[in-house]
Amino acid sequence: MLLEKCPVPQPIREDGAGATDLGPRDIMRDMENPDLLVPPRTDAGLLPNMKFSFSDAHMILKPGGWSREVTVRELPIAKTIAGVNMRLTGGGVREAHWHRQSEWAYMILGWARVTAVDQHGRNFIADIGPGDLWFFPPGIPHTIQGLEGGCEFLLLFDDGSFSDLSTLSLSDWFAHTPRDVLSANFGVPDWAFSNIPAGQVYMYQGEIPPPLECQAVQSPNGTVPQSLKHRLMAQTPLKFPGGTVRIVDSTNFPVSTTIAAALVEIYPGGMRELHWHPNNDEWQYYISGQARMTVMGPNSSARTFDYRAGDVGYVPFAFGHYIQNTGTECVWFLETFKSDRFADVSLNQWMALTPPQLISSNLNVGPDLLCSLRKVKWPVVTYPGYTYYPQEQSCMLRKGGK
Ligand code: MN
Ligand code: MN
Repeated sequence: MLLEKCPVPQPIREDGAGATDLGPRDIMRDMENPDLLVPPRTDAGLLPNMKFSFSDAHMILKPGGWSREVTVRELPIAKTIAGVNMRLTGGGVREAHWHRQSEWAYMILGWARVTAVDQHGRNFIADIGPGDLWFFPPGIPHTIQGLEGGCEFLLLFDDGSFSDLSTLSLSDWFAHTPRDVLSANFGVPDWAFSNIPAGQVYMYQGEIPPPLECQAVQSPNGTVPQSLKHRLMAQTPLKFPGGTVRIVDSTNFPVSTTIAAALVEIYPGGMRELHWHPNNDEWQYYISGQARMTVMGPNSSARTFDYRAGDVGYVPFAFGHYIQNTGTECVWFLETFKSDRFADVSLNQWMALTPPQLISSNLNVGPDLLCSLRKVKWPVVTYPGYTYYPQEQSCMLRKGGK
């Protein structure tokens, strides 16, 4: 009975091509990747791997939380951006540090307090909640601490070979500086440093901090002129028949000059339309649901990948792609780019704004298609005859809400 409901998938296409897999095999993984096991007939040619799951990434476990990362070491094509998935407990601290890459963050669940100080001695402190972003420019020192209940977030760095384990940290510098130098630098006797950590702390369990007003430090130079926080989920979404889109880049989050992003919701039965990006590679993070993406490259190449919550996807610069919701709940995912602007080219809009005689002769199509082309962009479309009525609250908020 169970087998009838959930048959073991076999690498056999409807037309009979293929044959049963006699094993050894990992049936759970085959079931998670139906389009690798039985690729659509339209797949062809050679394209590199464009999927890596955070569940396949090495965990760093520390008092106060954990982290894991997807970089070029895990996903070699992902050269523009590296991603870190981090959890901090209530009071857990990602220690004071800085790095050469910018840091863009999306809060998935819970709350954290972040602090930073710029080169002019202007400081920043803010509490970051679900759907909020922060951005630290390159070289700017910062801290992150989980508030009551803790949190989990995604960090993006504008360099695929970045590692969060190779940053410049406060404890590391102290540990590798002679005591007499520390004494001279701070004007205190060297016994003041007798209990400092012996090396990089990275993460530790601290106390849950007091309310923000009680912790903020007054700077004679004031606060940073551009906010390092942005409330992405609070933006009014662009609404389309197949879902919603929230775009964030340097036009509405001015300090974020190196990462642009779109938070996309695809309803069941919906699809992120056929499109590409004229500015850079796309680094994706799947927050909820199940999806399938086909990427089209040059020389008759196309390959399909299956994604679910916690997966990273990637699309090389200018390669065509679309993303289908293959599940029964909303797909929420982030499209991110190493760029100051979000930019996409819609296949549909491009064709609608090109002389119809050219499209007609190029594709051998008639008025059925030509008259349906849209001059206005619909980033998320829906299958004909499929209507989804979103609840008052989105799927993601209902799933993740407190
Ligand atoms: Mn950092
Ligand atoms: Mn895209």
